[in-house]
Amino acid sequence: MASSRSDGWDASVTSLGMDRPDVPEYSAFADQLREQVSGDVQFDEYTQILYATDGSIYQARPAGVVLPKSVDDVKATISLAAEHDIPVLPRGAGSSLGGQTVGRGCVVLDFTKYMDDIVEISPDEKLAKVQPGLVQDHLDATLAEYGLKFAPDPASSNRATVVGGIGNNSTGAHSVRYGISDAYTEELQVILPNGDPIHTREVVLDSEEYNEIVEADDFEANLYTTVRELVENNQDEIDDKYPSLKRSVSGYNLQKVIYENEDGEEVINLSKLFVGAEGTLGVIVEATVSLVTKPEETALALYCFTDLIDALKAVPEALEYPVSAVELMDDEVFRLARESEGYAKFAEPIPEDAAAALMLEWDNELIPAGEDGQRAAFEDAVGDTNAHFVDEGDAFDVIEAYTDEDQAKLWKLRKAAIPLLMGLQGDPKPYPFIEDATVPPEELAEYVQKFEDVLEDHGTSAAYFAHAGSGTLHIRPILNLKEDEGIQKMHSITDDVTDLVIEHHGAFSGEHGDGMARTEFNPKMYGDQLWEAFKVLKTTFDPNWLMNPGNVVYRDGPEDHGPDNDRGVGADNRENLRYGAAYQSIEPTAELDFEDEGGFSHLVELCNGCGTCRQTDSDVMCPTYRASKEEIQTTRGRANMLRAAISGEIPYEEIHSDRFQKEVLDLCVGCKGCKSDCPTGVDMAKLKAEVKHEHHREEGSSLRSKIFGNIDKYSALGSKLAPISNIGPKVPGARLVMEKTLGIARDRQLPTFKRQTLEKWFDSRGGPAIPEEEADAKVLLFPDTFTNYSYPEPGKAAVEVLEAANIHVDVPGDLAPSGRAAFSMGYLDSVREHAETNVEKLAPMVDDGWSIAFVEPSDAVMFQDEYLDMLDGEDVQKVSAAAYGVLEYMDAGRVDEEISFDAPAETLTYHGHCNQKATNKDHHAVGVLRRAGYSVDPLDSSCCGMAGSFGYEAEHYELSKAIGQILFDQVEESDGETVTAPGASCRSQLGDRPGEENPPHPIEKVADALN
Ligand SMILES: Cc1cc2nc3c(=O)[nH]c(=O)nc-3n(C[C@H](O)[C@H](O)[C@H](O)COP(=O)(O)OP(=O)(O)OC[C@H]3O[C@@H](n4cnc5c(N)ncnc54)[C@H](O)[C@@H]3O)c2cc1C
Ligand code: SF4
Ligand code: SF4
Repeated sequence: MASSRSDGWDASVTSLGMDRPDVPEYSAFADQLREQVSGDVQFDEYTQILYATDGSIYQARPAGVVLPKSVDDVKATISLAAEHDIPVLPRGAGSSLGGQTVGRGCVVLDFTKYMDDIVEISPDEKLAKVQPGLVQDHLDATLAEYGLKFAPDPASSNRATVVGGIGNNSTGAHSVRYGISDAYTEELQVILPNGDPIHTREVVLDSEEYNEIVEADDFEANLYTTVRELVENNQDEIDDKYPSLKRSVSGYNLQKVIYENEDGEEVINLSKLFVGAEGTLGVIVEATVSLVTKPEETALALYCFTDLIDALKAVPEALEYPVSAVELMDDEVFRLARESEGYAKFAEPIPEDAAAALMLEWDNELIPAGEDGQRAAFEDAVGDTNAHFVDEGDAFDVIEAYTDEDQAKLWKLRKAAIPLLMGLQGDPKPYPFIEDATVPPEELAEYVQKFEDVLEDHGTSAAYFAHAGSGTLHIRPILNLKEDEGIQKMHSITDDVTDLVIEHHGAFSGEHGDGMARTEFNPKMYGDQLWEAFKVLKTTFDPNWLMNPGNVVYRDGPEDHGPDNDRGVGADNRENLRYGAAYQSIEPTAELDFEDEGGFSHLVELCNGCGTCRQTDSDVMCPTYRASKEEIQTTRGRANMLRAAISGEIPYEEIHSDRFQKEVLDLCVGCKGCKSDCPTGVDMAKLKAEVKHEHHREEGSSLRSKIFGNIDKYSALGSKLAPISNIGPKVPGARLVMEKTLGIARDRQLPTFKRQTLEKWFDSRGGPAIPEEEADAKVLLFPDTFTNYSYPEPGKAAVEVLEAANIHVDVPGDLAPSGRAAFSMGYLDSVREHAETNVEKLAPMVDDGWSIAFVEPSDAVMFQDEYLDMLDGEDVQKVSAAAYGVLEYMDAGRVDEEISFDAPAETLTYHGHCNQKATNKDHHAVGVLRRAGYSVDPLDSSCCGMAGSFGYEAEHYELSKAIGQILFDQVEESDGETVTAPGASCRSQLGDRPGEENPPHPIEKVADALN
């Protein structure tokens, strides 16, 4: 037995320190909860807004949220909720697409903050026991050590919980091989709606164990006897109405609760009933899941067709081969990918005339290595399918991928479909509501032809991408749900498509569950008899319909099963919409250019709630969530709060309140991670700068903000007065005074000012060493504030290295600061002034052949990215295009190839700057360092937590340190002997580790390697 925490996450910032008044309606309930629950209890309006949406098109404010720390907390919450007649809604990452994780007036139980551990792994028995908030990728990362994995693999597994997946009966691209979550859910610990615990597991029917349970004559006994009766009395209907599909997740799992086990015994396992129940029968507090061995190698082949229907017709044929996945993409996905900066490279290999492609995967368990090795075995397998689909079939081309890198590119393209579609500008969007309807693979082609007729009848279109091998087609019709016409069309399309699905023996949902989108249509799928059985089932488990009411099953009225009120009555997929015909949003007058994003409000609304910003294992987004595990500190949380303000959910003026500023905006470190990592590109740093600008205009700003926003002026003064200026903060008590008066954290090391600035040093050595006429190129090294006044060494190293490459280098003394500091504080007027000055001075120089290089990444990105949002015209375009991080400049032009290096035998741990990662410019430094002769371990790290002034601010010091700790742990785990980082803030955060000094900039390491 092994038990461990999976993700290495131990940083924690628990208190936001804000006064969060409860919504009066629920304050008595909240007070009682606080008395009985050790976890967090949040019943304020912000929390209601944060949990009012998920990954779906729906929105409904809950009563409040409990983040339980223990099973006792869960019991107490459920019991108190019952006393107060308040419904209960368990939730994982809230990445559901059907609306099953939002519920009006519910108390939400969010397990992801505290109850997110692996309880036990039993590798020999291939079992894992997990808490309900455990993220699936964290489980898989731990299981990889044992060569195991949890088989269902939803695309959202980097933030989705295993138990949320059980709630939805999730699965993924490999369902062809492994099936869905119910096959792997063995035992559960559940708290029932009456507060009783139940341990569900396989119980042999009529065995001693079974008889003991049912003879107890209690609540549990009633569950067992009722479920058995429901199954036995409805067996014919069950056989008739449940489709024979690998994936069918609509309704309750009555067809799977009684079965024959491996020993041939007839068993009842109520666990199977909780799978796909969407939190409507009880709250799972622990799950035991079975595991499979993890294939070590895979291969892919992508077959291109000139016709979508031909591709679909090929699906059943593909399934005759020993494949582990059969996925479909159509030309709309290829078109959008080609037009997208981020995805174009993945679409490059796809022939222009491909109307659709089928992607087949093999693994080494299905195709074991022969005498000639694994690759040869895969090639033989692919050879067989090539012969079938290309030589004799309708495919006109095939792209084969054997290396991890090549396969990753094809999967990236396949998984790009949703983000690309959701990023479409304008109000009509491809919305999920019948997006996972499933039919037998052999009926796919005919089904799609009729589906297209439905879309045509409704005057709309859709892109097709799918887990074709299991018959699940992800089709999202493009509709405008801000208009009544669009909403009515959505309902009518659902009606028509569900008819079609029944005609083709399918399921309305093959993956995402019922939720608010599909519950309404379940009676159509299951017929009167089973629908009645569902109601009996629900009422037996949950007599007062308190658990996530209105999902999976609904009542016809108060007189129907359940309580004498309207809870769980009726279902209509047009209600509770996030947008809806009445939705309106303000478009604030913006200082920055939001044209590319379709406007400020459109950028806010681009957040579709997918929850990717809750992932914690790779990329940059979102460092504040990683450290705090608070929904309000996700990009989604911030976008939801902004949307509430621009749409009148809360008064727009609330934006200027202390609380909104502090909790929603100030805690965003402005790392820009979301700009690149959010699938739809919600650029919160830009939104924050805009709102902060407005806030300063309306409300003024603090002295500290002014100091940080004008740090260039203060640094210039500090440098002039050095060394005296450096003594002040060292006077005993001075830091305490600075903290009390200015809010500058007393424990944070402050940068020291250098009397000899980079500019002065450059002049003192006589300016450029390589005459312009003898040089191969001309570079202006931008003297950014930190490099110039506090850390000139990297600047000197940059000059030395560039000159070694025969470059004429100058360090200009007459430029304005880049404006980065002012931008991060939201002083956009000042940024504009700086940008105008710099562009005016630099544009003619760029015309004259100069490039501009930066030692400090955030200043480089300021020129490359933010300037384009500030200014219009050709000049800014050309200055921006001529701006480079110094290592980017060297790598892009292979400048370093002109230099002779003799690097010491050293492995460097490289931590890139988040701004450069967000603009996809982070890889350059690694390339140069490697060519200079170093071994480099580039970390997949997020923001360091300093983020300019953020880490210096007293109230953010703890959060900054907690974010930094995540980086420090990564550094610890790396094999590198020396850590190197281009960002001045990152270097000072790393230098604040006990016993450590500021690490070097990579350009200093390159300079060290000069021969
Ligand atoms: C971009 C994107 C891609 C997706 N891809 C896939 C995919 O490939 N395959 C797939 O199956 N789904 C997919 N989904 C849908 C969703 O991500 C998955 O169903 C996921 O498994 C849900 O996990 P979660 O932690 O977010 O659960 P949540 O959404 O929080 O909850 C899911 C359901 O489980 C219930 N629940 C949660 N915790 C408990 C508990 N402790 N006890 C009882 N019930 C509980 C909830 O009430 C809810 O009904 C995708 C979603 C998005 C946005
Ligand atoms: S901010 Fe982006 S990643 Fe986060 S939920 Fe919204 S769309 Fe998804
Ligand atoms: S800018 Fe960084 S901190 Fe702010 S929301 Fe985006 S990823 Fe999170």
